[in-house]
Amino acid sequence: MQEVKIVIAGPRGNMGSEAVKLVDRTGHFTLTAVIDSKQTGQTVADIEGLPSLDAPVYTDLDKCLSEVECDVLIDLTTPEYGKKHMEIAFNHGVRPVVGTTGFSNDDVEELSRVAEQKELGAIIAPNFAIGAVLMMKFASMAAKYFDDVEIIEQHHDRKLDAPSGTAVKTAKMISEVRDAKKQGHEDEREDLEGARGADYEGMRIHSVRLPGLVAHQEVLFGGEGQTLKIRHDSMNRASFMPGVQLAVETVLKIDQLVYGLENIME
Ligand code: NAP
Repeated sequence: MQEVKIVIAGPRGNMGSEAVKLVDRTGHFTLTAVIDSKQTGQTVADIEGLPSLDAPVYTDLDKCLSEVECDVLIDLTTPEYGKKHMEIAFNHGVRPVVGTTGFSNDDVEELSRVAEQKELGAIIAPNFAIGAVLMMKFASMAAKYFDDVEIIEQHHDRKLDAPSGTAVKTAKMISEVRDAKKQGHEDEREDLEGARGADYEGMRIHSVRLPGLVAHQEVLFGGEGQTLKIRHDSMNRASFMPGVQLAVETVLKIDQLVYGLENIME
């Protein structure tokens, strides 16, 4: 298999540290550098909890990509830096694989235009868990038969954005097969602001944030005399890594931005 040279942004994070381990154990992947928000060492080996690799640590992606070889940037940071990092990667002819969540539609459209101009592949996947992608697909199938649906997503309390990218993506996929509908009682009121959750074309999205959780989502459909619950749980960050590997291998073969792992799964 062709060797893939990889730079990872966010290597001390929960996701980034798993991605470093993935690259380390995958024979045809080579880690050429990492981007840390604070310089915590000279090499990856100096960062506590990471494999003993001699890839250098940079704080600045532009400088890094000017100095080291890189085919694919894996970004697992924050939406603010994720977008900047994608733009810098495109300027260096590097293909980004981004798991960072919280991009707006405008961000995705803008980045898609740049990828198209540069004829570079890019993948933004709000959820790398293959089971979560299947949950979204099954929810989209069910939505043809059930008009009323609420999404309850649950994450650890370090998560910055709400609702989760997966919840928004699920709502978007459902809206493609369902007409917008105001749900609940026509005269319903909120006695406590936010009690009914966020409104996406009439669908309600509820975001739970608690320590101890990783990433979980329930899509709850209701119809006359029946409910249908579709649920996915990620128990740890390792669950996302087969999806990251698939995205890295796929991004080398495409020349546009693809949003969502479901669009690269057969
Ligand atoms: P995390 O543990 O908080 O890690 C984020 C890491 O990014 C931190 O180490 C942070 O460093 C670092 N960082 C922030 N700005 C940076 C910059 N400019 N350059 C380099 N590193 C920077 O978060 P996480 O749970 O790993 O999640 C990371 C992102 O992935 C989030 O957007 C999250 O929503 C998303 N996520 C995606 C999936 C998926 O399947 N796609 C799954 C889980 C999470 P400091 O601590 O120094 O700020």
